[in-house]
Amino acid sequence: MKKSFFLCLGGFLLFLNLSSKQKPNIILFLVDDMGLMDTSVPMLADKNGKPERHALNDWYRTPNMERLAEQGVRFSQFYAQSVCSPTRASLMTGQNSARHRVTQFISPESKNAGPEDWKWEGLTSKDITLPSILRSNGYHTIFAGKAHFAPIDHEGEDPTRLGFDINIAGCSFGAPGSYFGEDGYGNLDPKRKRRAVPGLEKYHKTDTFLSEAITLEAKDAVTRSIQKEKPFFLYMSHYAVHSPFQSDPRFIKNYEKSKKPRSAKSFATLIEGIDKSLGDLMDHVTDKGVAENTLILFVGDNGSDGPLGDTYGYFSSAPLRGKKGTCYEGGMRVPFIAGWAKAGKANPFKIARNHLHHEQIGTVMDIYSTIVDASNSSSPAKHPVDGISLLPQLSGKSNQERPDHFMCHFPHSHRSSYFTSYRKGDWKLIYRYLTSAGKRKSKQPLPKYELYNLKNDPYETKNLAPENSKKINEMIGLMKRQLKEENALFPTKEMKW
Ligand code: CA
Repeated sequence: MKKSFFLCLGGFLLFLNLSSKQKPNIILFLVDDMGLMDTSVPMLADKNGKPERHALNDWYRTPNMERLAEQGVRFSQFYAQSVCSPTRASLMTGQNSARHRVTQFISPESKNAGPEDWKWEGLTSKDITLPSILRSNGYHTIFAGKAHFAPIDHEGEDPTRLGFDINIAGCSFGAPGSYFGEDGYGNLDPKRKRRAVPGLEKYHKTDTFLSEAITLEAKDAVTRSIQKEKPFFLYMSHYAVHSPFQSDPRFIKNYEKSKKPRSAKSFATLIEGIDKSLGDLMDHVTDKGVAENTLILFVGDNGSDGPLGDTYGYFSSAPLRGKKGTCYEGGMRVPFIAGWAKAGKANPFKIARNHLHHEQIGTVMDIYSTIVDASNSSSPAKHPVDGISLLPQLSGKSNQERPDHFMCHFPHSHRSSYFTSYRKGDWKLIYRYLTSAGKRKSKQPLPKYELYNLKNDPYETKNLAPENSKKINEMIGLMKRQLKEENALFPTKEMKW
């Protein structure tokens, strides 16, 4: 009897010990409008699965992303939605945009056109959110930067209504009035006041760039969590690298000699600023002695919006086709890197080092599931989730149980309008609800279907739809099933370009 009591007690203590060990600190590092190629880390793989450098990798300078990539796993094929708010709602809920219905970017003052009941009001306190789950599991939850979860005068404009203990500079809009401390991030400039960044008053009239101010405040909040001996969840969500493309003076000397347009150089300085922020946070948790217990997930929220050349062609995401807001891979492929702030024996679980995961996809919905898994939390059973934990893939192996599809459903007008793109295995279907030229500049109708085999043609150069009616029909069937499964809303009859 005594023996079994002590065995039970021992088991209970072991459980307690494991439970406490399984609450690593987590930094979700989100960069606005950063695409897969906006980094010096080679993210694409060659035919043998080895990292392959492209021209843009030599243009951008991201030494701290290189540092994180060296001690972690990065993905070649990681998908976000083609615009901001749908991805932001997916990160918070684990649901695809067709399901959570924030299908378009939220305009802070007025409802964008689209299906009548698309979720323009964004997230509310009634929604199941990642930070609320983590908070109920003992985490200190910190929000820093661009929120853009809901319009002005709606509940979700304040991140503290969505499960965060702290809000640093987050509000309803998605672009900052200004990146410059000198003009108070828009607060001191009448022309920029409409999008003035809230808080951060102590940096007004200083030369502290916005990305730096948010990082300094986030570091302070992390320090306070550590002092309280609570695990922390920091959602570090940069306003950068969204327009306005203002040059970060700390880095402009690195690009001055280039013949690229001024806006492209400014964009590169914004990229370098968020890279410094990443390095500063890694250094900070190292200084505080918690780096081996701090998981970092680095990700972009939609394809690149780098001001380089053609929207639908091969410039800002080259060699990928298209950019932010389009139905092509450059519109929805983003950098994803996961690693411990410091790899070492005290890591709660193993993450492969310097590993490029190229064989399977990952999605922004998976980040919700991964953080729930890594933190030993649980998502409510009644809450449907479209993501799956990435932890098996972070070990460096494939996960035979993960689905191989990704659907981007966009029943609105934007750069690419009224489309559903559906990837399954190597195949990708683009389906358009409206093909007529309408008021578009080009009078050519768009194709109803585009079909690509991404294994053979990763850059979407040859539309195989005309010669593959059997494959088209198969893909349409699968896409329809997925749209039904996610209870999708469709474009209204009044579709306009
Ligand atoms: Ca964005």
